[in-house]
Amino acid sequence: MPQECNKKGMLFVVSAPSGGGKGTILKRVFNDPETVHYSVSATTRAPRDEDKDGVTYHFMSREDFEQLIDKGEFLEYAEYCGNYYGTLKSEVTENIESGKDVLLEIETKGAFNIKKTMPEAVLIFIIPPSMKELRRRLTRRGTEDEETINKRMEQAANEIRLAEKYDYIIINGDLDEAVADLAAVCKAARIKRNAKNIIDEVLKNA
Ligand code: 5GP
Repeated sequence: MPQECNKKGMLFVVSAPSGGGKGTILKRVFNDPETVHYSVSATTRAPRDEDKDGVTYHFMSREDFEQLIDKGEFLEYAEYCGNYYGTLKSEVTENIESGKDVLLEIETKGAFNIKKTMPEAVLIFIIPPSMKELRRRLTRRGTEDEETINKRMEQAANEIRLAEKYDYIIINGDLDEAVADLAAVCKAARIKRNAKNIIDEVLKNA
């Protein structure tokens, strides 16, 4: 009997300070578009060069975003650095019902709000091995000046202080190790979620 036998998908919520390199780890673990949906958030922030509307985010005006809030279209939303970011219900509910896992990459306030409304969500925080290493990575990117890097470091420290409220913390030091840890976490979360199904199956098979 497979241990992972629940028909509904799982909701994985991942947070990480910027510069943490979570994208690489996530792509290695959640690599099958047939079984996982990366939720595309709505945001009012301006697109960056690497952004693509409808792919990295649904970009919109504050007015449009606020209309969606009023219509109750968001599972959660938060203001972050002066912009709105929100998870649309349409990105999550249907996929989970159809058996696909859904991955949200959101900041801490949003993550805690999701946990309140959907306690079965699995909260994962990807943490840098040290603040020194985070600074090194942010500096190496070469996209920000010193003042911006200092601001990001401060923000990262505030986010990291909240990481203990997450279900799991993955240290992003050695890439292969982080990938293995995240895969283990996902497997454990699935087995835990399916406990009742497993017990029912065993008892039924008399
Ligand atoms: P960025 O502007 O760098 O793409 O994202 C800034 C922050 O907003 C990141 O921490 C990102 O995870 C978070 N974020 C992205 N989408 C959402 C969302 O739908 N809801 C919330 N609460 N945060 C989000």
